[in-house]
Amino acid sequence: MAVIGITPCRKIEDYRQAILHVGGEPVVLDVSTPVDEVLKGIDGLLLTGGNDVEPARYGEPAHATTVAAEPGRDEFEIGIVTAARAREVPIFAICRGVQVLNVAFGGTLVQDIPSQLTGALEHSLPCPPNQAFTFAHEVWIEKDSLLGTLMRERLTDDTCEVNSRHHQAVKDVASGFKVAATAPDGVIEAIEDPAALFCLGVQWHPENFFRTGEFRPLFEGFLEASQKK
Ligand code: MN
Repeated sequence: MAVIGITPCRKIEDYRQAILHVGGEPVVLDVSTPVDEVLKGIDGLLLTGGNDVEPARYGEPAHATTVAAEPGRDEFEIGIVTAARAREVPIFAICRGVQVLNVAFGGTLVQDIPSQLTGALEHSLPCPPNQAFTFAHEVWIEKDSLLGTLMRERLTDDTCEVNSRHHQAVKDVASGFKVAATAPDGVIEAIEDPAALFCLGVQWHPENFFRTGEFRPLFEGFLEASQKK
């Protein structure tokens, strides 16, 4: 069974469940463990949601709304995603995760969508209590991509509905990556490394749908790649 290392965050349970539902073994990582040691014990890496990446890491001063993540997370996650990609360990990056992925390889972020992108949709739509998820906006998915291939049977006119709980987004895409999904307002909602077996980041929260399976193909594809590793 493939062991999936999950980076620690406040709402870890749905990530664990999403991995368990496709037959993987989730292991929550500790940011104080050396990266080399972590990589010895995992077949795939799942980067989770959370607060913002320190803007100095992409050479910008912090916007007033930027909120730092838990101590040690930026350092650990950038370190482990860099090493994992170099060693061809499958990577699935969610929400803050796609931002970490992009910054780790030289990309930049929109620090605050509402104040920096005129005419943007509402991307920060919290989930009401007692509800597993809320759809927020649709995304257009690039047909010729890993994301498009995995989601093919679930799309209508190359689009699907997603949830959205972010105020930042990918701005300049890291070299070696391509955009795989875009919101109607132009906000980048997914990137991937086309040269990798599985190196994908999405801006929404597919793990929240583990009960109903809308994004199960993403977790299945991730697990399959991790089993091959
Ligand atoms: Mn969004």
